[in-house]
Amino acid sequence: MRTVIEPDHEIVCVDCGGTCYPLGWYPGDEPLDPGTVLPYRCKDCLDRWDIVIGDSTD
Ligand SMILES: [Zn+2]
Repeated sequence: MRTVIEPDHEIVCVDCGGTCYPLGWYPGDEPLDPGTVLPYRCKDCLDRWDIVIGDSTD
């Protein structure tokens, strides 16, 4: 059985506290395999964050 994870729809930018949205993935899209790298873009400072899906390091 295959495990899939729905990525966070938005994350908080570590640099500026702004909101980052996934690039190339939208709410309602298919969940992703654990280990998939999903880039996020901050709407405020435009920094890019590569987030590993299913990587539960808080
Ligand atoms: Zn930012």
